[in-house]
Amino acid sequence: MSKRTKWDTKGDLDESKNLPIYQHKATLQQAVKDNSFLVVTGETGSGKTTQLPQYLHQAGLWGNGKIGITQPRRVAAITVAQRVSQEMHCSLGREVGYQVRFDDCTTQDTVVKYMTDGCLLREILADPVLSQYSVVILDEAHERSLNTDILLGLLKQTLSSPDKASKGRSVPLKVVVMSATLETDKLSVFLGGCPVFTIPGRTFPVTSKFSCAIGPKDTESSVYVKEVVKVALDVHTSEMAGDILVFLTGQSEIEKACDMLYEKAESIDYRYDVQDRKVEGLLILPLYGSMPTDQQKQIFQPPPPGIRKCVVATNIAATSLTINGIKYIVDSGFVKQLNHNSRVGMDILEVVPISKSEALQRAGRAGRTSAGKCFRIYSQEFWEKCMPKYTVPEIQRTSLTTVILTLKCLGVHDVIRFPYLDRPEERFIIEALKQLYQCDAIDRRGKVTRLGELMVQFPLPPGLTRALLQAASLGCEDLLLPVAAMLSVENIFIRPGHPEKQKEADKKHRQLGVQAGSCNDFTMLLSVFEKCKASDAPSAWCKDNYIHWRALKSAFSVETQLREILLRQQNRRDFPMEKFDGNKSELFRRCLCTGYFTNVARRSVGKVFCTMDGHGSMVHIHPSSTLFDQEAQLDWVIFHDLLVTSRIYIRTVCPIRYDWVKDLLPKLHEVDVYELSSVAREEVTDEEVAKWVTKEAAKRQTEGSAEDV
Ligand code: ADP
Ligand code: MG
Repeated sequence: MSKRTKWDTKGDLDESKNLPIYQHKATLQQAVKDNSFLVVTGETGSGKTTQLPQYLHQAGLWGNGKIGITQPRRVAAITVAQRVSQEMHCSLGREVGYQVRFDDCTTQDTVVKYMTDGCLLREILADPVLSQYSVVILDEAHERSLNTDILLGLLKQTLSSPDKASKGRSVPLKVVVMSATLETDKLSVFLGGCPVFTIPGRTFPVTSKFSCAIGPKDTESSVYVKEVVKVALDVHTSEMAGDILVFLTGQSEIEKACDMLYEKAESIDYRYDVQDRKVEGLLILPLYGSMPTDQQKQIFQPPPPGIRKCVVATNIAATSLTINGIKYIVDSGFVKQLNHNSRVGMDILEVVPISKSEALQRAGRAGRTSAGKCFRIYSQEFWEKCMPKYTVPEIQRTSLTTVILTLKCLGVHDVIRFPYLDRPEERFIIEALKQLYQCDAIDRRGKVTRLGELMVQFPLPPGLTRALLQAASLGCEDLLLPVAAMLSVENIFIRPGHPEKQKEADKKHRQLGVQAGSCNDFTMLLSVFEKCKASDAPSAWCKDNYIHWRALKSAFSVETQLREILLRQQNRRDFPMEKFDGNKSELFRRCLCTGYFTNVARRSVGKVFCTMDGHGSMVHIHPSSTLFDQEAQLDWVIFHDLLVTSRIYIRTVCPIRYDWVKDLLPKLHEVDVYELSSVAREEVTDEEVAKWVTKEAAKRQTEGSAEDV
């Protein structure tokens, strides 16, 4: 990506002096100087994220190090860094930079560094006292993202033990935790009673209206997308000037809504249809995570005179990014959330109703500069029956596998008594330990293995990392690296909205599948990657084959970065090496099995498969798979992930032979919950382990083999 950006300074840069935080600049600078922990709270849009790091920079608080600011969302980290680099009159990547997974835009000169919380967590692994930083700001703590929660616990632990805190540092680290108004007392108590600095807000009243369009049973995306479009157009024609912010759940919905808005806005006759004579047009702008950054910049620019701006956004516009000029909110009432699904035993991205506190937050975005209105497309009954009071913190609803491995690698053995702001349920911790044991990242005693130490360095899900390392140990990483990269970027296959085009795209994708030879979704990804890379005109090749060129370009960059991590590991003498004498296609699929044997399913009847992980879920192959409609020829398969709608679908699928997983499957049932829960609490003696092993062996003999299932 380009490390230099052009900007115009004529814009609204001077407005920073009008932000509520500006009045408190000197007090805030002093408060950070005086305290090792500080909680800062203030309404969204008061200037916390963009201004505080600059104030600390001006006060010289970076000393010899950096000021690091974490964000739960990568778009926020990038966008805000862009903005702050403009305000500080420097090019992005110099004094002000950002780092997100697979995209590092910083240099030696960077002192103000915006980053995702996941990035800082990975930095802690290499440098537990964060010696490169003078100040760390954990932003958006109210979002309660898993990584920010873990960082809070880790920094609390480090700073509360003076030995650890000063080791390897010349000056002590300062930690600032920033949050929109929620839960600041709880944060302060957690951090040993540290001071809370409140930036007095100035907000205007927002009137909220329910509608009877969406009731408890109307959860279909097409229904609420249509409704938000209708309401947004109503607002446009019948309300006075002022911009509109629409909340939906994700990219495809947002694009659909924008298309519908364009189409319908065309037919507005501004001489007769609009209430406010000053309104002469509608500017429709989408806003979601994987959008190109130059497009995102437009969101913040004031619309031309007479034009009303309508931003259609994900939840990112609820607190992470503040758009000026918003007077009307159209709230769909839904959000996309990663949840642990106990029915299938995996994390699944699903669309759920927002919480009441989230709805209030969304409405509040209309009252920043004057009184506003919020149009909820759902009924009062929906509010009462479907919307929980608060959003459950991510740590209490998603898989903990990666963070537990990180904690273990940091020497936190007792992962149950770790200082969590909100303790996750013990069964989630046990589940994470079980998965780590299954992919050989920890041993029976809960200790990190050599493999686990290698795995933690990859910013990938554990199963995929395991498969990649297996391939590397057999000398065939060239097969797995592109696949891992392709699975780390947004969907590469374009699905056009137009039915005719869709048919053509399907045909092209099928042809690519046939060319890929052995037919499965993983080799398909590999083949697309290699073909495009070898092409003289890759972007034209993508266009012709209905492949996202932007996504594929990121995949190329991700592959290079993964290869660098792997090369560093392979250069060490103790990198594990093995031998294999089968053919290449078998080798590839067997490597996948090592990581994905937990995601194994066997065909039961017709097109229905049954998972083998103890949940025994009935699943179907997703229509996007190259194996769709060929189910009859399949027996055992592994898959990358699940999609739950009215059915459970498996996506990115690969046929395998039972033989290849036979020896791995017992691992799914080998370790019992009691064993792991004691492992999670304390160091275990060899005798205790020996006792379990005999107990398990006896049990397995009576249970028979997995083949009988
Ligand atoms: P807080 O963190 O307290 O919610 P921010 O620092 O994010 O507040 O926002 C302060 C102001 O900066 C807002 O008025 C917002 O519109 C503006 N702002 C933030 N990012 C950008 C950007 N990329 N371009 C233009 N204005 C921005
Ligand atoms: Mg902020």
